[in-house]
Amino acid sequence: MTTNCRRAAKHITAYVDGQLAPRHRAAMERHLARCEECSRRVAEERATKSLVRRVHVAVAAPERLRQQINIMIARESMARAAARDGAQPLPRINPAGA
Ligand SMILES: [Zn+2]
Repeated sequence: MTTNCRRAAKHITAYVDGQLAPRHRAAMERHLARCEECSRRVAEERATKSLVRRVHVAVAAPERLRQQINIMIARESMARAAARDGAQPLPRINPAGA
């Protein structure tokens, strides 16, 4: 492993994420063009990322659960805001209208 490889290794994730500055990306591509080992690492990084993405999609929460969680978060933050402002919690709305 050369110094160039060590430098490349540090930036592989950013490179795969497309977050390298154009100058660094060009340097990385030049290195990858002649370094099999780093090219293999880039391929592995890409494979890992797409696997993580697929697993993430597979375990995404069902829509109903997500909505319930969002409601709970909204309630919690309203309750916190009320407590912080010293306000009384909002009265419950009586559906019967009594
Ligand atoms: Zn290399």
